[in-house]
Amino acid sequence: MHQLLVKNELLGCIQCGRCTAGCPVSLRTALSPRKIIYQNLREQKKLPKSQDIWSCTTCRTCQQRCPKGVSVMDYIIGLRSYQVERGKIEPTVRDALESILKHGNPWGRAREKRTEWLGDEKVRILNEGEETDILLFVGCTPAYDPEVQKSARALAKILNRAEVDFAILGTAESCCGNEVKRLGEEGLFEMLVEENSKLFDKYKFNRMITISPHCYNTFKNEYGLNFEVLHYTQFLKELLDAGKLQIPQETAEKIVFHDPCFLGKQNDEYDAPRDILKTLLPEKNELLEFSRNRERSLCCEGGGGRMWLEVESDSPRNAEERVKDARTLGAEIIATSCPFCFLTLSDAVKTTKSEDKIKVMDICTIIAEGGF
Ligand code: SF4
Ligand code: SF4
Repeated sequence: MHQLLVKNELLGCIQCGRCTAGCPVSLRTALSPRKIIYQNLREQKKLPKSQDIWSCTTCRTCQQRCPKGVSVMDYIIGLRSYQVERGKIEPTVRDALESILKHGNPWGRAREKRTEWLGDEKVRILNEGEETDILLFVGCTPAYDPEVQKSARALAKILNRAEVDFAILGTAESCCGNEVKRLGEEGLFEMLVEENSKLFDKYKFNRMITISPHCYNTFKNEYGLNFEVLHYTQFLKELLDAGKLQIPQETAEKIVFHDPCFLGKQNDEYDAPRDILKTLLPEKNELLEFSRNRERSLCCEGGGGRMWLEVESDSPRNAEERVKDARTLGAEIIATSCPFCFLTLSDAVKTTKSEDKIKVMDICTIIAEGGF
């Protein structure tokens, strides 16, 4: 395996340590991307510790900061694949992967319940051969998690009120596989790419929007699809600019935006969510910013399959740091645009006993509850 992974690229590593300095996980665990690249892979001293390989959130900061263009994160995912091939994975990850194979979602939930999130919201479910302008890809976590379902309903409500011609695939929708790929399960990922691509071919639509930046990332960059994929914040920004999305009621609350890695660092979209939030705020009430924002944003640790893996550490979790930073800024709302960020930060609000001080809300929920 070592031989397979060693490419000329590794020889470029100058041990500068910028990858480790920027790594959000190395702040509180023994993970050192520099050590993995230089000692474990380039010098082939020994394999990295399993705990280190699996603690990576695949946020991509290391890769982005490397002055020698080393694909640090991709090597770590490669090491995961090596473990997966040998069955060396945590039972919680194995269960999530098996559930995707059997039920099309990692949460162990029945396929028939995939539309339960709709509640009373009326959304057209597309039948094979039917046509729509926008296909809304709901994603597994918004479809099944009771709290994230509220974001999905809020988005459906906004799209309905803006009279967007949109529809969903209902119970035919399956996991996008973004986390599967990050967990190193290449075989299952390729199967999902093939099956999902064939599924999309059965319907007629112009563009797809996703709720999760994780679905957005893989459909946009890894599927080779012949239609445009947008994150929902990009689509809402488009509606705003076209005057099709009215937000009549401003919110007086102080808002700070948390950049999701798979929208920001992985896909360079930093402005669409901010532009929407700015229209929600009165002029005198500026959108608050974390000092670690945009490309320097602190990862919430929910990506890269980490929703199914607990990493042991005595230090506070990054999400808890984030809540602390938000409170120092005087924020009353941490705005998110990713289901995983929403869940990790909401949990951190509870563990830091900050429930009466601050709340976490997805941007679409802020708009829907703001009176639009
Ligand atoms: S992808 Fe992110 S979490 Fe993983 S090693 Fe790189 S910086 Fe650290
Ligand atoms: S940032 Fe790049 S060159 Fe520097 S230690 Fe990490 S992998 Fe090596």
